[in-house]
Amino acid sequence: MPNEIKEEGSFQETVELSLYEVRRKIYPRSVSGVFAKWRVVLILATQILFYGLPWVQWNDRQAVLFDLVSRKFYIFGLVLWPQDIIYLTLLLILSALALFLFTAVAGRLFCGYACPQTVYTEIFMWIERKIEGDRFARIRLDGQEWPWSLTKWRIKLTKHALWIAVALWTGFTFVGYFTPIKVLSAETLALTLGPWQTFWLLFYSFATWGNAGFMREQVCKYMCPYARFQSVMVDKDTFVVTYDKTRGETRGSRSKSDDHKALGLGDCVDCSICVQVCPTGIDIRDGLQYMCIGCGACIDACDQVMDKVGYDKGLIRYTSERAMLEHMDNKSARHYIFRPRVMIYIGIMSVLMMAFVVSLFMRNPLRMDVMRDRGALAREIEGTKIENIYRLQIMNSSENPMRVKIQATGLPNMHVLDSQGKDVGELLINPSSNLLIPVKVRVLIEDVKTGNHPIHFEIEGQEEGPHASGKLRGRDEKSSFIVPR
Ligand code: SF4
Ligand code: SF4
Repeated sequence: MPNEIKEEGSFQETVELSLYEVRRKIYPRSVSGVFAKWRVVLILATQILFYGLPWVQWNDRQAVLFDLVSRKFYIFGLVLWPQDIIYLTLLLILSALALFLFTAVAGRLFCGYACPQTVYTEIFMWIERKIEGDRFARIRLDGQEWPWSLTKWRIKLTKHALWIAVALWTGFTFVGYFTPIKVLSAETLALTLGPWQTFWLLFYSFATWGNAGFMREQVCKYMCPYARFQSVMVDKDTFVVTYDKTRGETRGSRSKSDDHKALGLGDCVDCSICVQVCPTGIDIRDGLQYMCIGCGACIDACDQVMDKVGYDKGLIRYTSERAMLEHMDNKSARHYIFRPRVMIYIGIMSVLMMAFVVSLFMRNPLRMDVMRDRGALAREIEGTKIENIYRLQIMNSSENPMRVKIQATGLPNMHVLDSQGKDVGELLINPSSNLLIPVKVRVLIEDVKTGNHPIHFEIEGQEEGPHASGKLRGRDEKSSFIVPR
C-alpha cells in the first residue's frame, strides 16, 4: 500500500491509498425491449450452433472435428492438415478484421451480443433470476445473515446445481470438438474417460462456472484486453450507447403533471434504472466508459421510463459523437458510416476473403514431402548403377481414396523402386491419410557424371469412389541425386 503525503501549511497528513478495489456485487435488474430481444436471439443462435455442431455428421464422421491426435481438422467436406496452417491464419486475420470493422461501425457489438463471456453470463443470470428472483429479491436473499435458513440453502443449492449442469454440458461439448463426441459420450457414460479428456472437461466446466457465475463483469473490466484497446478503434462517427446529456440534464425527480422545463429540469428523471439493469454496474450518464459492453440494456430500460413519463424515447440511444455534437438524427449520422477507415477494413477483408475462397477452391488434396535417407547417401549396385535412397511422404487430404503414380526426372533413365527393389507401380492412398514410403532411385553409371544433380519427384493421382471429382492431381518436389567419385 503506497503512502501519499499531503502538506497543509506546516502540517503533514499521511493518506493511505489501496490499489485493490473490493468487488461490489452487481445485481442486474431484468429488462425487456428491442435490445434484450436481440440478445436472446443471438444467444440462442450461438448456443444452438455451439451445442449442436459436434453432433452433425458428414460422410460417416463428425462434420466439425479438430483431431489434435492425428493433427487433422475436419470442417464439413474440408480436411485441413498442419501444412494448411495458412487457412487458419487467414481465418484468424479475417476474424480480427471483422472485430475492428464492427467496432469502428458500432462499438462493442461483439461484447454485448456474441462474446462467450457475455453469453454465458446472460444464461447464468437467467437461471439465477428464475431461482432467486429479480434484483431486489436477490439483494434481500444475500442480505440474510449467517447461519442461512433452510430456504436460502435450498435456493442456493438449486441454483448451483443448475449452473454446474450447464457448465458440465458446456465443458463436455467443448471437448467434443476435439474428440469424436459420440465416443466421448460412450466413454463418459461408462466412466472410462482418459485423463486428458477428464482434465479438459472439468477445467472448461470450472472456467464456465467461475467466469459466468462469479467473475462476470470482472472478466470484461480487468481481464479482457479488447476493452482496453477499443478506444483507439472508435471515432466520432462510431455508433455507441450514449446518454443525451443536452436533453437529459439537469436531471431530477418530478411528478408526471409537472412542467419539467419550467422547473429547469431535463428529461432524465434520475430513476437510476439504467444503472440497475447494467450488467457491469456503470452509469452511462457519466459518458462512454471502457467497462460498457454495449449491450443496450440501459437503452431498453430508459425507453420504458420515457414511455411511462410520456417523453420521447431515445434519451439513451445508439448514436455517434458527431450526431450528438451537431444535433443530427441517426439517419443523417448513418451517412458517415462508410468513412475511409471502414472502407479500408472492408477492402482488406474482401481481398482476403477472395484469396481464401479461391485458394480453397484451387486447393490440391495431393501433397508430398521428400526426405533424403541420411544413413546412406549413395551406393553402387552391381558395378553398373548408382542408387540413392529417399523417403516420400504422400498425403491424400481428400475424402476419397486416391491412386498415385510416382516418377523421378532430371537424369536419364531414372528408375523408382520400392524397398524390395521392385518397380513402385501405383499406390492406393486411403482418404484423409498419408503414406510414408521408402524408395530407391537408380541410374546407370555411364549416364551420369560425379557430383550433386538436381532431380524432381513427380506424382500424379486420381481420386476414386462415387464422390470423386475425377480430376487428375499432380505434385512436383525438388531433391538431389548424389553420384560419388
Ligand atoms: S433510466 Fe433514463 S431517466 Fe432513468 S436515470 Fe437513467 S437516463 Fe435518467
Ligand atoms: S452502460 Fe448500458 S450498454 Fe453499457 S454495459 Fe451498461 S447497460 Fe450495457
